[in-house]
Amino acid sequence: MAKTKRGKGLWNTLSRGRGTCPICLATRIKLLYSATNSEGKLVTVCKKCSLVDAKIVDKAVSTVNLGFRGKLRRELNQQKQSV
Ligand SMILES: [Zn+2]
Repeated sequence: MAKTKRGKGLWNTLSRGRGTCPICLATRIKLLYSATNSEGKLVTVCKKCSLVDAKIVDKAVSTVNLGFRGKLRRELNQQKQSV
């Protein structure tokens, strides 16, 4: 069985398979797992978040404008707490 989540194969994927997880906001983490929200929409998440339930996936934020900067992440965390 091919290893789809480790090794050289990842180097060809977008950002080498890494990015910011939309749920736990971990940066530079492998986003190779998918979670489904209550609407049945697939969200690409990290390994930890692949096991969470749909209600938590609903709270996933867009990481498109997030980048990898700590400052943006801090702001987002504050937003998250106020929800
Ligand atoms: Zn995560």
